Amino acid sequence: MQQTESAPSVPLEQFKRTKIIATVGPATNNYEAILELIKEGANGLRLNFSHGSFEERSQQIAWIRQASEEVGKPVAIIEDLQGPKIRLGDFDGTIEVETGMDLSFEYGITYEPGGHIPTQYDLATKVKVGERIYLFDGKVKSIVTSVSDGIVYAKAQNSGTLVKRKGMNLPDTDFGGDIITEKDKADIEYGATQDIDYVALSFVQTSNDIVRLRTMLNDLNFDAKIIAKIETMAAVADLDAIVQEADAIMIARGDLAVETPLESVPVVQRQIVGLGLRYAKPTIVATQMLGSMTENPEPSRAEVSDVATAVFIGADCVMLSDETANGKYPHEAVKTMKRIVLYAEHHAPLKVTYEKHEDHSRHASISKAVIRLAENIAAKAIVAETKSGATALQIAGLRPEIPIIAVTSQVRTAQQLSIAYSIKGYIRPDDAKAATKLTDWLRDNEVLHSGDIVVTASGQYPGVIGTTDTIKVRVLE
Ligand code: PGA
Ligand code: MN
Repeated sequence: MQQTESAPSVPLEQFKRTKIIATVGPATNNYEAILELIKEGANGLRLNFSHGSFEERSQQIAWIRQASEEVGKPVAIIEDLQGPKIRLGDFDGTIEVETGMDLSFEYGITYEPGGHIPTQYDLATKVKVGERIYLFDGKVKSIVTSVSDGIVYAKAQNSGTLVKRKGMNLPDTDFGGDIITEKDKADIEYGATQDIDYVALSFVQTSNDIVRLRTMLNDLNFDAKIIAKIETMAAVADLDAIVQEADAIMIARGDLAVETPLESVPVVQRQIVGLGLRYAKPTIVATQMLGSMTENPEPSRAEVSDVATAVFIGADCVMLSDETANGKYPHEAVKTMKRIVLYAEHHAPLKVTYEKHEDHSRHASISKAVIRLAENIAAKAIVAETKSGATALQIAGLRPEIPIIAVTSQVRTAQQLSIAYSIKGYIRPDDAKAATKLTDWLRDNEVLHSGDIVVTASGQYPGVIGTTDTIKVRVLE
């Protein structure tokens, strides 16, 4: 990784506090398309490891870094692991299911008409009688009646049509702490050799899954942070611990709405965002935010409202999946999302009403003091000098209206902070003249102007984690 003085070149007035993550896929699989996504407002790029080869990934990562350099804005790259996403196997045509029909599933077989239905995962070792098996993303529901000789028998609860390779959900099944699959392990090993900022773990069940992944990353010297994807019933039951253990949290509404009651998803979304604020962990609202833009150049009115709601409740990020990966209007989707975010932020200022965590740590206390001082003195920006990003995240967690500029010597930290609320990253070397260089840079790049006030939180030893002890008020010359 190169240590460059790359700098965000967007004036503060045009800066959105809520960030955008876009998924790279067939619709955006070239340099120009990725460059446009970043120019139009994407702060994070998600690579979906359910599809594609390592060669394609490496090419995309190179394009993203080059485009980020060209735009002058750090961006986060997210490796999204498939996890135990269970799918039907291959078969010709479709399988018609009637209510009350007996179904049977077997791992890895070749389908014979009327025989067992092939699956890409050995369910027989995990499921128990009475548990639900949802097929084709919940379109057909069934209940396990018996398991024998590696074959799972179930009774269909409704009629419908099955299509090969569609998703299966097992909302009641306990994976026994074993949600990281062999494919995930290979993908993590590959990721460790790449310039990746976050690993997203799918189908998390408990906070232990995060602990296991963290050990794997540490063993590989993989310095990515961890995003916990909340999309199972078990995770909803263990939210507090998962949010504390993970570095960031994604509300993965696609699978979540299959595994838990559809109507509970907006409530869980609010709970997760509230916990994210409480523990200063970035939250990401994902899936179908502008879903109709996959086909149309304009979103539905309900979708506009969905994006604005994520802003109102205090999410750090809103995410695009199919819209930018497979849609007909990937760039319009990012532009539209940015317009909605900016309008919502400018016309309905966020007022956080979640209960705050009683935190008297040095980080938390300094963060509160910095914000009060900055607000009182009408500062244009809060500058946080940070190595790990913790100081900047603490300040962001309190949701000040004043933008935060995170100054760090670590390229990785600047990239990781790019998906956190209201943080603009600035990378500069650790040295004694650093403070002067920073203010010069802010002025030269017209991020701030002569006479503007900034409040800075820094430490006596720039670059040493946990030594933030100084608050300064500066007037730009
Ligand atoms: P996926 O996760 O797109 O990887 O399935 C997001 C979701 O389930 O909403
Ligand atoms: Mn999912």
